[in-house]
Amino acid sequence: MANGNVLILGAGVAGATTAWLLQRAGYAITCIDGGARYDALEAAPVAILRLFDAVGLSHVAAEVSRPVRGFGGGDFLIYSRAALVAALRRSAAAVGVAFVPKRNFVPGVPSIDFRIDASGRTAAWSRPLQRFNIGVADVFRAPTRRPGAQFIDAGDHWAYLLDDGQTRTIGVVGPRRARSKCLPPNWAEAFAMPPAEASLTARCLASAQWTTRPVDGRRLSVGDAAFAHEPLAGQGIRFALACALAATATVRTLLERPEQADAARTYYADLVAAERDHHLSYLRGDVFDAPATNPGAYGHDLIRFVGEWKSTPMVVAGFIEAHPALHLPDGRTTRWVGGVDTKILADVADRATTVAMAQRRLQDRGLSSAAARALISWGIAQGVLSHHLA
Ligand SMILES: Cc1cc2nc3c(=O)[nH]c(=O)nc-3n(C[C@H](O)[C@H](O)[C@H](O)COP(=O)(O)OP(=O)(O)OC[C@H]3O[C@@H](n4cnc5c(N)ncnc54)[C@H](O)[C@@H]3O)c2cc1C
Repeated sequence: MANGNVLILGAGVAGATTAWLLQRAGYAITCIDGGARYDALEAAPVAILRLFDAVGLSHVAAEVSRPVRGFGGGDFLIYSRAALVAALRRSAAAVGVAFVPKRNFVPGVPSIDFRIDASGRTAAWSRPLQRFNIGVADVFRAPTRRPGAQFIDAGDHWAYLLDDGQTRTIGVVGPRRARSKCLPPNWAEAFAMPPAEASLTARCLASAQWTTRPVDGRRLSVGDAAFAHEPLAGQGIRFALACALAATATVRTLLERPEQADAARTYYADLVAAERDHHLSYLRGDVFDAPATNPGAYGHDLIRFVGEWKSTPMVVAGFIEAHPALHLPDGRTTRWVGGVDTKILADVADRATTVAMAQRRLQDRGLSSAAARALISWGIAQGVLSHHLA
């Protein structure tokens, strides 16, 4: 018997991945979708593979993406969004997720325990919405010329080109205004291609947008329905996968451990707010303070743990629980650094102790000498260890 019935609106990356995770966690998932969207090539940094691994869908990334160099020399994965979504849906259907076209959906059958809005920028169940700037993306398709990725910034407009060796996508993003359906000659020239080769496939909203209520009773918003980045960031797929993981832990906690409901709601709302605040700071051009420079700690220098603990919701074995986490000077909280529980710092330096002694104690607890030194340096740089030169 299923742990509960969950209805997901929208079967894009966020919806199909959340459906896959929740179905495997013992829920019965029905996913309704409004139909096909335009197809285009997209790109994500190769680090996205770690997230595909975390959601158990590495096979999908391997099937649909190919590596390219570009955007200033970094390594990226390039994929057709339609192919990615189709492969995610196939995986979810194989574990029992029911995909129902919106026109065939009969409300009320079965009764629903939880709803998830994964309807992308439509955010059909997540109104009201807020936006930052107004931007429009014109997406063009052209025949392939050479695999690669390119980005050009021209002040109030910018454009990108993605070519996977089979087809080519060109996106032109800028403030809303009437534009022709042809690739503007200046961009065609910049990408060294004849303008007539490109045909317009979509004109869509591209501003940052978010719901004011990503968690509302027994409804969550995931992916673009929770927070949509400006495409310039190339963060949409990463956020969709991260939301799917977090939403799965949140739904499981709300339905199976109601005593932790407040921690679960706070966890999910904070995750979306942190993503939005970080992206909006980036769009406004805020300058982040560089971390304090570590002056270098010698063996006979004295350190002492001065960090503060704050009860913080975190995912533990697939559920959300409130646990103490270290409160950092920049407002973030963290419990783990490089896979090491930071509580160990409080244990080994609970009173003034030499760096050498703290390092020995960390090694006694199983850390390598390099990991122990790195953890002490991190603690000093973050201000959770006071440091006095001998
Ligand atoms: C021009 C452009 C370029 C981009 N390039 C990149 C990039 O290179 N890399 C990157 O990581 N991200 C990129 N993004 C962002 C990325 O595409 C999105 O963040 C990602 O697709 C969001 O996934 P999602 O599942 O939340 O939403 P979507 O992919 O939009 O899926 C929503 C689904 O819900 C369905 N739906 C909508 N309304 C309803 C309704 N009322 N009822 C039922 N179903 C509904 C839709 O049919 C769709 O299948 C780009 C975005 C734009 C606009």
